[in-house]
Parts: sequence; C-alpha cells; structure tokens
Amino acid sequence: MGEQSKVHEIRWNPLICQWIIVAGHRGRRPWRPEEKGLACPFCPGTPETKDLGVWDVIVLPNKFPALSPKALKVPRFHMGFFRVRRAVGICEVIVETPMHEGDLCDIDLDHMRKVVDVFAKEYSRLGSLNYIKYVAEFRNKGKEIGVSLTHPHSQIYALPFIPPRIMCELKSFKRYFKKKNRCLLCDIIKIEYEEGSRLIYENKHFTALLPYFAMWPYEIHVYSKRHVQALPDLNEEEKLHLADILRVVTATYNTLFERDMPYMMVFHQKPTDKKNYNYYHMHIEFYQPYRDKDKLKYAAGIEWGFWIFTYDGIPEKKAHELREACGKALKKLDKYLGKIP
Ligand code: ZN
Ligand code: ZN
Ligand code: FE
Repeated sequence: MGEQSKVHEIRWNPLICQWIIVAGHRGRRPWRPEEKGLACPFCPGTPETKDLGVWDVIVLPNKFPALSPKALKVPRFHMGFFRVRRAVGICEVIVETPMHEGDLCDIDLDHMRKVVDVFAKEYSRLGSLNYIKYVAEFRNKGKEIGVSLTHPHSQIYALPFIPPRIMCELKSFKRYFKKKNRCLLCDIIKIEYEEGSRLIYENKHFTALLPYFAMWPYEIHVYSKRHVQALPDLNEEEKLHLADILRVVTATYNTLFERDMPYMMVFHQKPTDKKNYNYYHMHIEFYQPYRDKDKLKYAAGIEWGFWIFTYDGIPEKKAHELREACGKALKKLDKYLGKIP
C-alpha cells in the first residue's frame, strides 16, 4: 500500500500484445458492504445519490475507477524496455433502478426502455471525447462472478484503446465483407432462422439465440435484425424492443433453474475513433457461468492458459432448455410488467 497503491497506468504485455490496466487503488474496493451492516451506496438517499432528487435511472462515477481522465503522468522509472501509457479513460456505473434487489426483468418495460436510452446516450457522450477509442458497456450480476454490490447496476469503461476481442471481431467482419460483400452477422442470423434449433426468442426487431459456436453452456446472443453498428443507431421503436428482449433473456435465466442466476452481459458495438465500421454489426452477448443447477463452469487452465473453450454438453440441447424456460418466463413477465405492443 502507500506509494504502491498510487500506481495507475496501462502496461503492455508484449507476449500476447495486450494492454493491462494497473490500478493500485482498486485493491481497497469494499466487498459487499451490506454484509458488514453498511449502507448500500446505490440506494436513494445515500451520500452518492442524495443530491439527485427522485430518480429512476442514474449514472454515477465509479468510486474505484480502473481509468481516470486525470490519470497521472507515467513515472520516469517505468520508461525503458517495457511499454506503458497513462491510464486515461472514464469508469461509470449505471444504477438501473432505485430498487435494492432484482434483475433487469424486474424493471417494467417502459423503465427498461429508459435504461437502454441511458446506455445509448453514454456511449455517444463518452465516445465523443477525443481520448476515448472505445466505450465498453457491460453488466455483471452475482457474487459467483465477483460482483461486490447487489443493487442492480451496469458499468461503462470508456477506453483509450480498442479491446482485443473487439479487434478480433472487426477483423473477421471486415474479411468476410471483403470476400462476400455481405455482413457476417446478417448471414449468421439468416442461417440460424433456417436451422431454427438454437433460437430462443424473437420480437419485431431483435433475436435471442444460443450461438452455434457458444463458449459458455447457456450463452445467449441478442442480435438486432437491422444492420446497425451501435446503440445510438437504433430508433425509438427498436430501443423499446431491445428493452423487451433484455428483460426476456434475464427472466429466462432466472426461470431456467428456478433460481436467481449470475451472468455477464456485454454490448459489442463499433469503436468510437471515428473510422468507418459499416461492415460491423452490433450485438449483445450473455455469458452464464452455470452448466447445471448447482455446477459452475470454471474458466481454468485450458481456457486461460491456451484460450481454448470446451463446451460441456450439446448446444442445441441447451438451447432447447432455454427455449422452454423462456416460454415459462414469458407467462410471468406478461402478467405484471408490461408486454410489447
Ligand atoms: Zn441499494
Ligand atoms: Zn449485419
Ligand atoms: Fe461479439
């Protein structure tokens, strides 16, 4: 601690060509404050939220940001063999509801549309800053995956570089477009509809399915039917339908094993460095760490050490389970939280 906790920089790993964010101060992050009898910082009326009046969705600065617009100059002793850069960027939290517990499916449809709108607006606002190249929006839920606060919330990392996974997707989309003059994801959607065995739910503008190439047992992808690159490209009707499908997917997870499920939800959108990414197609991915009612799938040696995923089971069978759970979940959702017109 002390001096060391002030280390805040981005280091380059030359072995795998990736940036690593080093944030000494994040070691002091509190774990589950309410378990120690402390107040939840995201509930209405706490120091973090009390000046905001009555709210339904709010954006707060992350109190332990991995990146900061004021990141200090990189210390001299770091210059030399290893590459390093300033940890500039912005980390925010989107608190989706004043309710202390629950999931996206517990938020009514119209409120959820506002949440989608906040994701779109923050993407545009942060993406317009000259030092931001990518706006990473995501949601972690559940203590199984290390979420320290139970109150429903999502996060945004506005980054000074394009994440490696997105770089990889961009390369694939670009290569496919050059070869076929079509969008890779538009073609995947077409084929998934022809096959049908992995589809889970659809509304007028979005489709939820378990991809042919799933890495996680109950992975779900949400694809926009229209070829768009980022949330701000969506019109009002599409935003409402996105709100609907996000509620349905989370309700499906919570119905699957009749328990509150942890998951990661990530938005894959185009970078914000003002280059042309018309060949890219925005989508949302959900990774769910359980492979059975009470068996966790761990990413371990083969996954982390070699980046090879083994899929324990048959994707089409798991998709069938999800489709059934979705049917049950829809009945519950319709009853009290609003249905898409
Ligand atoms: Zn709370
Ligand atoms: Zn497309
Ligand atoms: Fe993706």
